[in-house]
Amino acid sequence: QLHRANQIRSDFVANVSHELRTPTTVFKGYLESLLDQPAQCPPSWRTALEQMSAHADRMQSLIEELLLLSRLEREDHVPNPQPVLVSEVLSDVLKQARMLSGPRDHIFSLEADATLRVMGNRNEIYSAISNLVFNAVNYTPPRGIIQVRWFRDDAGAHLEVQDNGIGIGEEHLERITERFYRVDPSRSRSDGGTGLGLAIVKHVLMRHDATLDVRSKLGEGSTFRCDFPPETIVADDAPMEAKRRDGAA
Ligand code: ADP
Repeated sequence: QLHRANQIRSDFVANVSHELRTPTTVFKGYLESLLDQPAQCPPSWRTALEQMSAHADRMQSLIEELLLLSRLEREDHVPNPQPVLVSEVLSDVLKQARMLSGPRDHIFSLEADATLRVMGNRNEIYSAISNLVFNAVNYTPPRGIIQVRWFRDDAGAHLEVQDNGIGIGEEHLERITERFYRVDPSRSRSDGGTGLGLAIVKHVLMRHDATLDVRSKLGEGSTFRCDFPPETIVADDAPMEAKRRDGAA
């Protein structure tokens, strides 16, 4: 019964999100064309239209993330896993993160094993990593430091996103991966966060047999680490070559 109730809830959320997709796209489209044609748009309406447009963007992100979450919930495992070169995903994500940071001018560093691959779905892994890195940008004051590492050891492959931002109080740590859970609701809403990012991260990792470890100190910063077990690592010649070279050096 519990399973059925869960299924009904999940279907309901997916259906509502799906139904809201088209109207939101229409609002957004008209608002954008009005804003693009200042001659058609009375100056006294501009602020209102800009606010409507920002809210339409937010609604669209919410709908897309709700749809993604219900798709992730429906199956326990990735349907067609492929080898994913995570270092490549990381350079794409960091490019986007630099744009998001803009004038806030965060300092980024990336250390990634260029040959380390895991079995999985690239889009899902992209989505998880980008949520973690974009959060680091959004919750770290300007000129803060964001360090990203991708490495392997005996326990598996690990992705670490560390920032020296606002941090999270210990009492919240247990709940931050719940949908819509926010430490400071007014702040994240005004920053455009949907409150679904970490729930998506958790689901993507679960589907890849990976786990999320969060360490944080209020006012000092946070470290989010994704741990992929050794069996998800793609064994091929490339990493062994790299290891031999390191050993020889
Ligand atoms: P949001 O869209 O609100 O960012 P998330 O699910 O991504 O939603 O994150 C949940 C909450 O966890 C955020 O509202 C924020 O309070 C906290 N959080 C997430 N990442 C960080 C971080 N790197 N530093 C500080 N707080 C964070």
